[in-house]
Amino acid sequence: MTLTREQIRELAEFQDSKSGAVSFYFQPATPRNKAHKEDTILIKDLAREALHKLEGKEKRDLTRSDIERIVRLSGEFRSNGTHAKAVFACAGQDFWREYDLPAQLPGTQLVVDRHFHLKPLAHLLGASPRLGIVLVDRHRARVFDLRLGELTEREGLFQPLSRKGRSDGYAGYDGGHAQRRVDDEARHHFKTVAEVLKDSLENGVFQKWILGCQDVHRSQLEPQLHPYVKQSLLGHFNADVAHITRDQIRTEAERITENWKAGRCCELVNQTLEQARGHARGVTGLRRVLRSLELGEVQTLLVGENFLAHAVECSGCGHLDAHLVSYCPACGMATHEVVDVGEALLPWVIRRDIELFYVKSDSEFDKVGNIAALLRFRSEQGANVQSISTVAATRALEEGRLYPGRLRRFASR
Ligand SMILES: [Zn+2]
Repeated sequence: MTLTREQIRELAEFQDSKSGAVSFYFQPATPRNKAHKEDTILIKDLAREALHKLEGKEKRDLTRSDIERIVRLSGEFRSNGTHAKAVFACAGQDFWREYDLPAQLPGTQLVVDRHFHLKPLAHLLGASPRLGIVLVDRHRARVFDLRLGELTEREGLFQPLSRKGRSDGYAGYDGGHAQRRVDDEARHHFKTVAEVLKDSLENGVFQKWILGCQDVHRSQLEPQLHPYVKQSLLGHFNADVAHITRDQIRTEAERITENWKAGRCCELVNQTLEQARGHARGVTGLRRVLRSLELGEVQTLLVGENFLAHAVECSGCGHLDAHLVSYCPACGMATHEVVDVGEALLPWVIRRDIELFYVKSDSEFDKVGNIAALLRFRSEQGANVQSISTVAATRALEEGRLYPGRLRRFASR
């Protein structure tokens, strides 16, 4: 089954104080890639390594049972083909989840920690809008959803159209009249499509869309589109509604989405750096980014693809600190070190539906610390450490009480 937004939140909220949260990502090797170690051997190696690291941990036997179950299952994963898989398990809390993912993971991994390892998911999902793909010609319109590599046709959006039927059979009576009638019907059809698109975007059925049609039909549809609908269009491709295959639709849509994402990421990096230079709605560097995250200011988070930095996390309130302090400056509880703060901040990102982009090597971005955030507002808090009232406000934000809307950033329903 494919992950929903609620399921991702569940994973992000999960914590095991005994560090028994097991995350397993399986990326199937391509058959051509014989030079790579065989999947089974690789998974057994990963399991052995993970078990070795468990030495001395409490609840080791429970975690061992999870890892062994994953190794047993991996034979099944390999034989069922094209999908990648993710398993999140914690036997100590009776937690086990399996999900299908598109086979676009960086590799097969097994991680045991306090939290689930979510970076591979964030790479897949980060900043993915809910996407509609609309195919049209003079008579037909079909709408598809594309999510995590799964293409699903949406039924029912164009119900009224099917009742109308076509106006064949008039040609013998009066050619000119029949032609006008066909043109009127086509115009009416494109108008209906434009209206359905507007409703779908307004109701959040999708946030962005891609158009597949022949050029002649595009020129008839586009003048009918509401400006807001035009703005949400990511791109178009040439398609014959009756003959295009699902694979072709998926390939075209993914290509257009990737281009759009790359462009948007670039734009956001420039905007954020400019805002940060003016001490306005932008911050750069780990320390300031963490603070803005905890204050609930962040709209878009930008993280270098190879960003890696240590930090500490409070075992009490979850505060993340770039200074490797032993006790939490916010609540006084003991902290523990996290080796990859880019992973540790993901639960914050997911809980708050923050738009997340991974930035490919960019020298300007690198200079400011390889991490930055565009803010929705800049709070007036002057203190270095959040006060109790800020913590309360943060909590309220998290619970959605003060949340300024714009949910659904991270993944769709
Ligand atoms: Zn704390």
